[in-house]
Amino acid sequence: MSFRALILEKNDTGEITRVVKTLGNDSLPEGNVTVDIEWSGFNYKDGLCLTGAGGLVRNYPHVAGIDFAGMVSESTDARYKPGDRVVLTGWRVGEAHWGGFSQRARVNADWLVPLDAGLTTRDAMVLGTAGLTAMLSVNRLEQAGVAPESGDILVTGAAGGVGTIALSLLSTLGYSTTALSGRAQHADTLKRLGANTVLARQDFLAEPDKPLERAKWAGAVDTAGGKVLGKLLRQIQYGGAVAALGNAAGIEMEANVLPFILRGVTLMGIDSVMQPFEIRAAAWRRLAGIFDPALYENVVAEIGLEDLEQAASDILNGTIHGRVIVKP
Ligand code: NDP
Repeated sequence: MSFRALILEKNDTGEITRVVKTLGNDSLPEGNVTVDIEWSGFNYKDGLCLTGAGGLVRNYPHVAGIDFAGMVSESTDARYKPGDRVVLTGWRVGEAHWGGFSQRARVNADWLVPLDAGLTTRDAMVLGTAGLTAMLSVNRLEQAGVAPESGDILVTGAAGGVGTIALSLLSTLGYSTTALSGRAQHADTLKRLGANTVLARQDFLAEPDKPLERAKWAGAVDTAGGKVLGKLLRQIQYGGAVAALGNAAGIEMEANVLPFILRGVTLMGIDSVMQPFEIRAAAWRRLAGIFDPALYENVVAEIGLEDLEQAASDILNGTIHGRVIVKP
């Protein structure tokens, strides 16, 4: 019944240490469903939690890992029984609660989503929080009236986790996309994932700023925030919409109101953490129908618990491309 987990501890000088330990079920927290974790995802927030940056983790010892997928081994909740395959993202799991960098977790049943038969647990973590957030963003763009015939969709932070999945989903759905990326070396991969055009972030930002700029995009999936979000808003066409989900370029937004009052542009915030069950379950069902794991496979890297320290430093330094998944 023992299992392995990466345990984070804070020493007397405030430094975070990371050690893989073998534990028993008596170490698990309270909860009504126990899950044998088959795969965990690796995200920017995991980089913060693993290093103590951002103050997301308050209590130690701690198990990080904001998403995971696996098989139910015990359940006292009527919705789940042993053998069920489940996925968990959000709800501050891995930040305030025991997370996915472990072979086992015990959680609140309300946080789980049954895994659609069309996805393996590995597929679910190739997607992970990044995939769910990309799907929620595309769903919201469509609800705002954006359709493939509306025009080009700009995807920012295109070489990252959310960006690469957003590109592949939009491409499968028949959208024309432009990938905005600061890393020219990934241009060919972005095109293979479905980007029609790759735009260098330096060139995009170097264009002279005007209160309103030439309308180029029917919509955007923005992982960047900051100056990038402000600029792209000024380039959205009449009636277009933007799904703002990230802050890779900063939390301030350098924007003005003209795109809203002269072009009727809609700015929508996307949060994956506290989404109600029905919305997340519907997003996972749609992902199962349209995500093509084979198309995405060459931007997936597999690591183990011992590799997480290096991965944390890589994601915080912006050198991760696509998705990293963890076999605990
Ligand atoms: P990644 O680290 O995988 O990707 C982020 C990408 O942002 C990088 O690959 C890079 O893309 C780009 N980027 C980095 N620095 C800058 C910069 N200074 N200006 C503009 N772009 C930059 O992270 P994820 O894809 O997992 O997450 C993206 C963002 O979304 C993060 O801020 C994350 O916290 C947030 N997020 C929010 C969620 C929500 O629920 N709202 C859920 C998941 C993530 P490139 O190299 O192509 O330029």
